[in-house]
Amino acid sequence: MISINIIKAFSDNYIYLLRNESKNITSVIDPGESEPVLKYLNEKGWHLDEIINTHHHNDHIGGNSKLQEIFNSKLIAPLYDKHRINNVDIYISDNDIIEIAGVKTKVIHTPGHTLGHVCLYLEEEKCLFSGDTLFYLGCGRVFEGSMEQMWLSLLKLRDLPDETLVYCGHEYTLSNAKFSSYIDPKNESLKIAIQKIIEKSDRKIPTIPFELGKEKFINPFLRADEKDFTNSIGLGSNVPAECFSIIRKQKDNF
Ligand code: ZN
Ligand code: FE
Repeated sequence: MISINIIKAFSDNYIYLLRNESKNITSVIDPGESEPVLKYLNEKGWHLDEIINTHHHNDHIGGNSKLQEIFNSKLIAPLYDKHRINNVDIYISDNDIIEIAGVKTKVIHTPGHTLGHVCLYLEEEKCLFSGDTLFYLGCGRVFEGSMEQMWLSLLKLRDLPDETLVYCGHEYTLSNAKFSSYIDPKNESLKIAIQKIIEKSDRKIPTIPFELGKEKFINPFLRADEKDFTNSIGLGSNVPAECFSIIRKQKDNF
């Protein structure tokens, strides 16, 4: 059993510091900046063994070099981003089984937001680090891949067990909630989720993690192949990837 420590960075990024006490291993996922991570490590007296990046964007890798310099940590990053992330020790790609914080982890390639994006699934811990692919009530913007690629990537994540807790790269939940309730105003489960989200936001505590099983019924981006839903928003005659694309573009302009 590991502990997952949530560190805030920039205005809305989350950095995850994983600690395996029994094996004495500490790992960080997506250190966009080094300072808050250093502060946390110093307070706890932990050495940073590994850094893992989900994708090449600077708000996820910006702290790599400073942390490597101080701790000589191993850097684990997507093979696809070979030319965009420096000083990588271990490259990862789809379906690789690796260890993060001493725990078995499956690498899931989820192109769309970027072409090399990977998510990390720790089956025994029942948790998923989804980077900028899946957000609470939302999904990442499609910058490099096609809309269809992003949709297929989200389906891979949706297939994971319901009890999976999802830790995503940003606190975008409130803005995603506004869009979700706009597009799906009659969804009672969504209303209940949003109430809890507002309570947390008011208290300035993270809305993360969220449960994948519940998300399947309330995140509009995971429901582009659900006929009742797509009919209700007037997209019934489109194939799922097209529905997804239309919903994604609507959110981009929301
Ligand atoms: Zn990103
Ligand atoms: Fe990001």
